[in-house]
Amino acid sequence: MEITEFFDALDLDDYLEEHGDLAVQSPLDGVEIARVSSHSNAAADEIMGKAETAFLAWRQVPAPKRGELVRLFGEELRKAKEPLGRLVTVECGKILQEGLGEVQEMIDICDFAVGLSRQLYGKSMHSERPEHRMYEQWHPLGPVGVVTAFNFPVAVWSWNAAIAAVCGDSMIWKPSSETPLTAIAVTKIAQRVLEANDAPPIFGLVVADRRVGRLMTADKRLPLISATGSVRMGKAIGQAVAERVGRSLLELGGNNGIVVSDSADLDQALRAVLFAAFGTAGQRCTTARRLFLHKSIAAEMKQKLVKATKSITIGDPAEEGVLMGPLINQRAVDDMMNALATIREQGGEILCGGEALDRPGFFVQPTIATATADMPITCEETFAPILYVFEYEDLDEAIAMHNGVPQGLSSAIFTLNLREAERFLAATGSDCGIANVNIATSGAEIGGAFGGEKETGGGRESGSDSWKIYMRRQTCTINWGTEMPLAQGVHFDVGE
Ligand code: NAD
Repeated sequence: MEITEFFDALDLDDYLEEHGDLAVQSPLDGVEIARVSSHSNAAADEIMGKAETAFLAWRQVPAPKRGELVRLFGEELRKAKEPLGRLVTVECGKILQEGLGEVQEMIDICDFAVGLSRQLYGKSMHSERPEHRMYEQWHPLGPVGVVTAFNFPVAVWSWNAAIAAVCGDSMIWKPSSETPLTAIAVTKIAQRVLEANDAPPIFGLVVADRRVGRLMTADKRLPLISATGSVRMGKAIGQAVAERVGRSLLELGGNNGIVVSDSADLDQALRAVLFAAFGTAGQRCTTARRLFLHKSIAAEMKQKLVKATKSITIGDPAEEGVLMGPLINQRAVDDMMNALATIREQGGEILCGGEALDRPGFFVQPTIATATADMPITCEETFAPILYVFEYEDLDEAIAMHNGVPQGLSSAIFTLNLREAERFLAATGSDCGIANVNIATSGAEIGGAFGGEKETGGGRESGSDSWKIYMRRQTCTINWGTEMPLAQGVHFDVGE
């Protein structure tokens, strides 16, 4: 399919401008595929104003009716799945299976949000005062700023957007400058659904770099900023939003570990580790970057891993059978090569991979390196397919190494031993927001709350009760009696 055919299929044409200031290149070959015009500060300000107006109308639409619009949006995504999945592949370089999977994730979260639109429950409590009723309710919060990273160019927005929409919020999306086309396509589809149903324009988009991102984070009209990206970005946004005492939901970098015990099903562990480490070319926040092998199985696992890693097909991610596409840009390749030099300097040995491919685009080899806990590079997230392999003797040691990094997103243990599994999941076990047994670190389902601890930012989005951050909680007490009792038995009797 030619690139213009994608644009036609997704009705993108009117956003593309021959002389637009933002050049979009495909990581497949580094060639420019489109130009779009980014929004000026003034235009972004106007879009935030429109989101505020849209919110005032949208908050009055009953939640199940809001859910119905999200359902219709999900139907449109079903129809657009193929071209949209392909555009994800062309613009961000993930293999087609994963591009389509990302669109499926959007559809799934829409379905989840439709059900949620009838379940935005508040609790009712027993008042300590006679003839009083006490309960809590949840109201829409306001326009939400959504800042997203390049590596999940559409799914992460939908985790926020579908839930925020049923909660009664409008939003402004600032996608990564690397991936504006998918964002424009998705926003167009969403806006069409709203227009066809005479709904307020709640899905706003600003195409711009961090300049506009900074403008949004400082703007009091946006009570919540949901930001996905690097720890560096999260620190900047977290501070800016705290400065105005706003609310932030931070989904930041990970440095995820998998423990493989001597009781594990090694074939199962091998398959899982390969996808978690090298799927999406190592560019997932949940990518497995650190592997802890029990000493007794380490030699066997390393040998199997190296053999399997060498057989991973690298190439055009749209082609059937290719398992690894390119990194997003040249800077990502340079960062990986610098990290490999540092690994060697710090005493690690490259067991396989370690090279960039001599072809157009930003292709690299999946790489495995030996590591020890005292190597500082292993505490950093290098956003590339590098897997560090450690060895351990007892589980306490493995858990200590596992938890000994600043990030805390996803974690896993492979074991058939019940005690080991429960120890890993206990309060003294993994310190991450996600902890799995016999499942690797990546590929979470939308039904659970997604997010991590420590420098990963503490935010939770997607399933479970993550919706609560998109609403404001109100505690209400009603006195239906004739007396005026005070809480805690306090008397305040004013003489007549
Ligand atoms: P990035 O931090 O470079 O950019 C992310 C987004 O933030 C972009 O839209 C960027 O324009 C914007 N931005 C950057 N600085 C900003 C600022 N000061 N103010 C406002 N906006 C700003 O990240 P990236 O390279 O696009 O993505 C990779 C990173 O994202 C990795 O660290 C990865 O782990 C992380 N990530 C985390 C999750 C998660 O859910 N925890 C999911 C996906 C990606």
